[in-house]
Amino acid sequence: MTKNAGHRFRTRLSHGGRAGTRVHGFVNPPLQRGSTVLYGSIAERRAAATKRLDQALVYGIMGSETHFMLEDMIAEIEGGTRCQIVSSGLAAVTIPLLAYLKAGDHCLMTDGVYGPARNFSDKFLRDYGVETTYYKPELDQDGIAALIRPNTRVVYVESPGSHTFEVQDVAALARAAHARDAKVLMDNTWGFHFFQPFRHGVDVSIQALTKYAGGHSDVMLGSVTVSSDAEWERVRSTALLLGQYASPDDCWLALRGLRTLEVRLQAQMRSGIEVATWLAARPEVAQVLHPGLPGAPGHAMWKRDFSGACSLFGVVFRPEYTALGLEAMVDTLTLFGIGASWGGYESLVLPTTGYITRTAGSGRFEGPTMRIHIGLEDPADLIADLEQGMAVLRDHHR
Ligand SMILES: *Cc1c(COP(=O)(O)O)cnc(C)c1O
Repeated sequence: MTKNAGHRFRTRLSHGGRAGTRVHGFVNPPLQRGSTVLYGSIAERRAAATKRLDQALVYGIMGSETHFMLEDMIAEIEGGTRCQIVSSGLAAVTIPLLAYLKAGDHCLMTDGVYGPARNFSDKFLRDYGVETTYYKPELDQDGIAALIRPNTRVVYVESPGSHTFEVQDVAALARAAHARDAKVLMDNTWGFHFFQPFRHGVDVSIQALTKYAGGHSDVMLGSVTVSSDAEWERVRSTALLLGQYASPDDCWLALRGLRTLEVRLQAQMRSGIEVATWLAARPEVAQVLHPGLPGAPGHAMWKRDFSGACSLFGVVFRPEYTALGLEAMVDTLTLFGIGASWGGYESLVLPTTGYITRTAGSGRFEGPTMRIHIGLEDPADLIADLEQGMAVLRDHHR
């Protein structure tokens, strides 16, 4: 923890992760690039190499001041002890899975998991002798306890789920997992600082910093934050064994992104709720999957556990509209980019019908579905754009 720990969140974002007097008074930390690290003598180098994992910086792959400042910031934002920065959000998923699972182990993974994380389990971990069972995101403590086997080492949660936005009872799942010595890994990208994972029993928290931390769709980066030094040793040594390295340029951009994180998130949360509220009242819409919206699935749990919402949510249209019609509607939108990822300053939309894999019976919808990310545009313009698109959707009425 830095000296800012006692201050409020926005103050900490402004003052954390800076180099102070070490950089001659410049406001921002230096961008430190490097591979080779030089020593004055063989003895000095030998002494450095035998230091603890967090002090042995004998080579560039172990990171630089730029990495460490970002790691300190993310650990503080999530309320964890330490953080390891990795090259992408997906690497932040795969590295802890590899750190905590070995041949013969069993993993319980939420059915609402981010697609590439499911691919990693089904295509990679399976070949290495790890079995994965998918569970319904809404399971309670007894429900998950019934699925835990003697060899279950990881209970993986993602709340809200990717595309389907189910809110999980993380604390209840963690109690069941810990009773049987399993670790709780959580993808906390949607919740970011609005969900404090370590207060809910999470052992390892995963973030795609690519999203709101970067904030400008120009960085790919991930973080793995942990609840104790022991967990950190495990995650960091796995990352180093795998040759993981994030560019210091990207770390620097993420540090810059964090300075404006809260103003962006608050503005995008407001706009997201405004657009979601408008959509929920439309006759074409069956359901809006936005946990922050009163009446939406998971709202009560969200209200209990989260202090805010990001601006990513799902829309389910009525079954009389077609997936083809939805695609035609999306093609007419002028302010929404058609593309993956989210968390930038620009709005995005992605039709998701037939695109989401679910194997534990969750996420079934009758009508066509899409995912929306609300950026920093004026929400009135975004609503007008969606409204003209709805006319095209209505032409495709069954
Ligand atoms: C985008 C995303 C990731 C992966 O992040 P990348 O940086 O794109 O690899 C992981 N989890 C969730 C929930 C995501 O949305």
